[in-house]
Amino acid sequence: LASRELKKSDTVVKLKNNIKIGGGRIAVIAGPCAVENREQLFSIAESVKSSGAVILRGGAFKPRTSPYSFQGLGEEGLRYLKEVSDKLNIPVVSEIVSPEHVEIFIKYVDIFQIGARNMQNFELLKKVGATGLPVILKRGLAATMEEWLMAAEYLLAHGTDDVILCERGIRTFETYTRNTLDLSAIPVIKKLSHLPVIVDPSHATGVRTKVMPMALAAIAAGADGLMVEVHNNPEKALSDGAQSLYPEQFELLMRNIEAMSPVI
Ligand code: PEP
Ligand code: MN
Repeated sequence: LASRELKKSDTVVKLKNNIKIGGGRIAVIAGPCAVENREQLFSIAESVKSSGAVILRGGAFKPRTSPYSFQGLGEEGLRYLKEVSDKLNIPVVSEIVSPEHVEIFIKYVDIFQIGARNMQNFELLKKVGATGLPVILKRGLAATMEEWLMAAEYLLAHGTDDVILCERGIRTFETYTRNTLDLSAIPVIKKLSHLPVIVDPSHATGVRTKVMPMALAAIAAGADGLMVEVHNNPEKALSDGAQSLYPEQFELLMRNIEAMSPVI
């Protein structure tokens, strides 16, 4: 179902407010790594929206490496996302980590996110796919194109038509950056599949100063959009502060993207 052989035309994922992912214009998703409180989320949402982001991101159930790190606000975080979504009229995406949470998520989010760590959590893929809602499927930490597309196949086979693939860097021997962004994934996937492909330069690099060059490179390579972490106070962020852009940096990024390619 994910194959270009079966479906020649590009899939365009349509959301409320006539927002589309795929189909020629660049869609930018931005927001904090984690929803921390209502004020933080409103502040970041207002600023990224005014800079040109069309979808808000924010983690509520965080898959952290250490069990002692901030785990997210859970359902309270999803409630803030929904509140901001309604007030600012912007669709929201949040990561789901357990099949048990599907019923909760559908009350609050417009798009599900399946994170890198859960790309091959097949029970989660089946349950999320069956909702029929759009899903951003991140590439696993060490997943091949074939494995990634097969994970997308699970979602499609169980009921959704709207899968967005997200390249977010893969594990290599290099340690200067958090992961290694595989830009070649974009043209490879575009050839093999009709699904839209976006890039997350934040988790790919882990370093704020590397986000802009990799974001622009992703657009040049043919990505349909970006997912970028932005924080109003990165030094105090409860997760991924080092890779989170300041709102002014995000504003500059958006202006540079617009100079390269038409944006939604
Ligand atoms: C995230 O987007 O917050 C996240 C945890 O990303 P990834 O699954 O790519 O590590
Ligand atoms: Mn993060």
